[in-house]
Amino acid sequence: MRFGTKAVHAGVEPDPSTGAIMTPIFQTSTYVQEAPAKHKGYAYARGANPTRNSLQKSIAALENGKYALCFSSGMGATDAVIKLLNPGDEVITSNDLYGGSYRMFKRVFEKYGIKFHFIDLTKAANIEPLINDKTRLFWLETPTNPLMNIVDIQACVALAKKRNIIVAVDNTFASPYLQNPLDLGADIVMHSVTKYLGGHSDVIMGALVMNDDKLYQDLAFIHNSCGAVPGPQDSFLVMRGIKTLHLRMERHCLNGRKIAEYLKGHPKVGKVYWPGFPDHPNHEIAKKQMRDFGGMLSFTLKDDSMEKASNLMVSVELFSLAESLGGVESLINHPASMTHASIPKEERLKGGLVDSLIRLSIGVEDAEDLIADLDQALSKV
Ligand SMILES: *Cc1c(COP(=O)(O)O)cnc(C)c1O
Repeated sequence: MRFGTKAVHAGVEPDPSTGAIMTPIFQTSTYVQEAPAKHKGYAYARGANPTRNSLQKSIAALENGKYALCFSSGMGATDAVIKLLNPGDEVITSNDLYGGSYRMFKRVFEKYGIKFHFIDLTKAANIEPLINDKTRLFWLETPTNPLMNIVDIQACVALAKKRNIIVAVDNTFASPYLQNPLDLGADIVMHSVTKYLGGHSDVIMGALVMNDDKLYQDLAFIHNSCGAVPGPQDSFLVMRGIKTLHLRMERHCLNGRKIAEYLKGHPKVGKVYWPGFPDHPNHEIAKKQMRDFGGMLSFTLKDDSMEKASNLMVSVELFSLAESLGGVESLINHPASMTHASIPKEERLKGGLVDSLIRLSIGVEDAEDLIADLDQALSKV
């Protein structure tokens, strides 16, 4: 099956008791057993729920994986992966991570004796010197937020495979429509399902996808033991969202391209960060591992200032000023005062996050309207 067919059909069977075409919302905490331990595969809903199972099959199929596990948030999914490790184990990850992942690694897991190396993963040569016999996990994220850096998944996998290191990829920004890390040799794919998979800004959820039986058993054990499972209503909403994932992504990509090109030609705009431009530093890798370039982009103002950026933020009418991404509606945000405000200014500037940097999550509206909105807002800064 091709991607769009899987998005509509994978994991969803008509309900055997009624023929309902959509998997029902099985709103139950427990299941009646015929005799002790004799049941239909469902004992207690933390362990398994039919609505969640359907969704897990669907997400596994979209990532070309054998198994998926859904969690109550993206962070819940990430937490389960780190719980595979033991005190003393080491993780190599990016210095350009989703802020919540950085916070969890640093402030929750370091105190349990797990060591994290935060480095520039866009250069695979940076990784090798840090590998030792304690290295258990590479945690990658690509494209990154907000500068759209691209990490070469296959190059990282090649380093890991020689040494039995697990490679996990946060695939949230690309979505399974644009990139399938398991096909490139990764062991685990993580999603903040909250974003493109859900796609309608109405659910918080996470997922892990994998092929290896032992890895699945270990993660399923943590899933059930630690209990960060999503409810059936949310599972249903995400199944509904996934049915149009390919259609939405097509439009996100088309709109992303049009807006990136519009911004690049605007006299008040400085840099535009979008991996589809041939002069993007990792364009060749993006072309190799992604099917298209997505609807996430960032840009700076030539006249770089907090004030100009905030004028723009309050002048847009169609874009909503909000954190998050991947929904049908276009969002705008200002990393220096919002998502990355806790980073000291000097550090922030070193990473290229200047005062006027603005991030857009391009929705599925008509590009002409989005461009007209940016145009009137830019005329006011
Ligand atoms: C949002 C996000 C997360 C966290 O997911 P939640 O569903 O908010 O817990 C992790 N990684 C990336 C890249 C994200 O954008």
